[in-house]
Amino acid sequence: MRTVACPTKTSCHLHTTLKIRLILLRGVMRRFFLNVFNPRYVRESLALRQGECRRCGVCCHLTASTCGALRSDKDGHSSCRLYKLYRLPNCCTFPIDARDLADRNLVAPDIPCGYFWPSLER
Ligand code: SF4
Ligand code: SF4
Repeated sequence: MRTVACPTKTSCHLHTTLKIRLILLRGVMRRFFLNVFNPRYVRESLALRQGECRRCGVCCHLTASTCGALRSDKDGHSSCRLYKLYRLPNCCTFPIDARDLADRNLVAPDIPCGYFWPSLER
């Protein structure tokens, strides 16, 4: 992910259910383990990924709370205060695969991520 606040915060389901929070937590852990223990899978999946970050910031709402480094810019987009300093692999590689997009869409189904996998498009 290049940068990241949800321009339409009201469209984000920030007050998700416990079930969704658990699904999102599982996704955070999955990405962590993939980044650390299966970087080859991450590389290969990202090589097939197309599109670009729209700076919606939705993927910065996928942990227990909204990330403190998330910033809303005047142009309505989002950015990361840490972008030029350091970001965790989970931030740099999101979304790794379609499972990540599915998790992300639980939070903001009406705001599509800018990334996609053509092989999965119908
Ligand atoms: S959800 Fe997708 S488009 Fe939105 S900030 Fe994250 S990577 Fe970028
Ligand atoms: S550090 Fe926070 S704001 Fe920056 S990309 Fe990661 S989750 Fe988003």
